[in-house]
Amino acid sequence: MSLSEHKQQRARTKIVATVGPACRDEDRLAELVAAGVDVFRLNLAHADQAQHEESVDRIRRVSQKADRPVAILADLAGPKMRLGELPGGQMVLPFGEHVRFVRGEQSNAADELTTTYEPLIDELNVGDNVLLADGTIVLSVVAKEAKSAVCRITQGGLLRSRQGVNLPGVKLSAPAMSEDDRAFAAWAAKRELDFVSLSFVRSPQEVIELKELIAANGGKARVIAKIEKREALDQLEAIVEASQGIMVARGDLGVEVDVASIALEQKRIIGVCHRLGKPVITATQMLDSMQHQLRPTRAEATDVANAILDGTDACMLSGETAIGEYPRETVEMMNRIMLATEACLDDSQRNGTSHVLSKVAGLAAGASGVHPITAAVVASATRIAATLGAKLIAVTSRGGATALALSKQRGFVPTVGISDVPAVLRQMCLYWGVIPLPSAPSEHESLVQYLEWWGRRDGTLGVGDRIVIVGANYQVSQSHNLVEVHEVTDRK
Ligand code: PEP
Repeated sequence: MSLSEHKQQRARTKIVATVGPACRDEDRLAELVAAGVDVFRLNLAHADQAQHEESVDRIRRVSQKADRPVAILADLAGPKMRLGELPGGQMVLPFGEHVRFVRGEQSNAADELTTTYEPLIDELNVGDNVLLADGTIVLSVVAKEAKSAVCRITQGGLLRSRQGVNLPGVKLSAPAMSEDDRAFAAWAAKRELDFVSLSFVRSPQEVIELKELIAANGGKARVIAKIEKREALDQLEAIVEASQGIMVARGDLGVEVDVASIALEQKRIIGVCHRLGKPVITATQMLDSMQHQLRPTRAEATDVANAILDGTDACMLSGETAIGEYPRETVEMMNRIMLATEACLDDSQRNGTSHVLSKVAGLAAGASGVHPITAAVVASATRIAATLGAKLIAVTSRGGATALALSKQRGFVPTVGISDVPAVLRQMCLYWGVIPLPSAPSEHESLVQYLEWWGRRDGTLGVGDRIVIVGANYQVSQSHNLVEVHEVTDRK
């Protein structure tokens, strides 16, 4: 993709799209990449391993044909609790009546429920609330017996087999990863997937455990913690420190904590990610109504824009691309909302009027995880590029950390990331505003020539235009210590 296409058509905020029956075939995946998808998410709670294998192969072929790095995120189900089978597949729970949780997988009476979590009955206490079906049905535990927990229905509704069960505020002894999760994490490592996310994270130790599992299987995947439990909010800083990325998983978060507070929690999570220099994905129901219609609601369009103003690095689509009727149109719409929002931010930055992002960008300058020289150099490079009206910034980043630190500056000069490690280029797919540039050489003189050729090819760069290059001469280990301003010459 040319520099001018990137500037005009591609948002700086990254798009993560969930793979499912609506987009699984290769032509649909290619369409989504052309429409703006940067990262595909495999939801490992659905479909079997053979299907995910096939999706990985297809995404890689599509990425190769498009000559664009595309990353893959494997999303582990974690300790998500679900209902077992209901007699006839569904039942109505009327307000004020009683049901009971019993052991096993199949309920045999009209007032019995089972779950996938064997010790549930032992761990529930009288007074606990149990939320079913995305929080639409609420039960309150009124009595515990040896073989059951009796609940009063305080909010009724229609229940279906296998729907989700949430226990806000109840500390469960379930391990962070099931045997299936562990097998999938090992598979993701071996298939060299780029990101692995863990659902229902409760502590930093759980993140570290997954990192170790991936490393033990020879993987380089970055670990993303999904924030969707009160316990995670209570230890947010430590979990963000331990992770290599965060997902604001608003689906379950909005059930586990008061839905009235999730907008503020989203802002807080994103703020911590900026301060600690970690990429953050905002997820769930962003353009939900586009599963069945071609236009989003005003509230949804506003939600995408607000997530960008909050400082998110990426927005995620779930049902919209996995099972929706209009996956391509939804990605195009998301990209369009992002472009419109970013254009306004770019203008306000040029005019020196302050905007929300300048606050988070300032905090990110001191981000942890990079050498203080690197942090100072990327902050200065962003300022130099803006002051000189540079047309391009290029960052050579073997491991990706400098590209991420630069991304967190939220500069609006188009930025390309260069690495001779293909996996690192794919990880840059999640970094706001960084265009991973495959086949660019890392060696300085060849890189300058390549960038001039790439930018001049479509007329975006002309003689006298400036390119800011962030690099390292390795004089200070682990740091990027060079900023160079290059002027395009008339050499052919
Ligand atoms: C969420 O809960 O918002 C989420 C992204 O997780 P899942 O889609 O796995 O429920």
